[in-house]
Amino acid sequence: MTLVEFERFLDANPRLIQVVTTGGEQFNRDDIEEFWLAMDRRGHRTSCATNAVETDRIIEREGALLARLSGRHLRNFAVSMDGLEETHDRVRGTPGGFARAWRLFQWAREQERRWPFYRVEICSTLTAANYREFPAFVEGLVAQGVPLRKIGVMAALASSHYYQNEKSLQPINAREELAALIEALQRKHPGLASGFYMESYLGWLRNPADSVRCLAGAAFGYVDPYWDVYPCVVLDRKLGNLRDCGFDVRRLWQSPAAREFRAEMAAHPCTRCFNKCNRWNSMRATTAGLSRIAWRQLRGMLRGGGRHG
Ligand code: SF4
Repeated sequence: MTLVEFERFLDANPRLIQVVTTGGEQFNRDDIEEFWLAMDRRGHRTSCATNAVETDRIIEREGALLARLSGRHLRNFAVSMDGLEETHDRVRGTPGGFARAWRLFQWAREQERRWPFYRVEICSTLTAANYREFPAFVEGLVAQGVPLRKIGVMAALASSHYYQNEKSLQPINAREELAALIEALQRKHPGLASGFYMESYLGWLRNPADSVRCLAGAAFGYVDPYWDVYPCVVLDRKLGNLRDCGFDVRRLWQSPAAREFRAEMAAHPCTRCFNKCNRWNSMRATTAGLSRIAWRQLRGMLRGGGRHG
């Protein structure tokens, strides 16, 4: 994927509501800032989740990027932290990684005060190796003065084509226990992960079938660094290559493989995972979903809570 191709992709698909770059570690790519600037020029938000390993280099590059962005579109920046110090360093396999991540988060918080379009958070990925420690981790962050709205959480996903972690991942099988653990935390800290996303996640943990219907391969998809397109980051099911379609997503969506995939999804909805892409993009693609989002927003405003995610 070259920058020139990426710009062609953006220009060929001006009606895409959301384009999100993703890693691995996005800063491993030396020209990733140019991709974000190309998005910013075209009115897209940009985002990055980082492992903070090359802390000084990330600070230097992110700081320079902030000065170059237009300021008209949000930039979200998440620092990955997977538990208390010992756990984080063990899970990530990087001695000193926790201290580096914390330093980067502190730096980013300072930038947040300087740049009004900048949003910073800590993102914690849960697996069987760390989820029981999540409450202690949250308490530790709260004790350090981290606002609850700055603490994001997601469960790790298994994927052969994206994370290549199907053999190494330790999934959380005790779904009820995880749901109860999060709910207990929310009772203690009502501002923690209080939006519709978490509400929906808790519902999915208890009953994956009784959830938002996933519209992967229709409302959203995943493009790999070679322009191969998949329905999502989990299913290893190639739908075509954007280089063969002039980078036009609508053309690719009409490929026989994409049509076949959507027909299978209509007959047998997939409930294998839960993530922000499949929830929000699936909901936004249907009138019923949009109505649910609008109703929640309205209810939040009537209660004086403003915007509810
Ligand atoms: S539920 Fe998850 S794995 Fe299944 S199609 Fe949707 S995003 Fe992919």
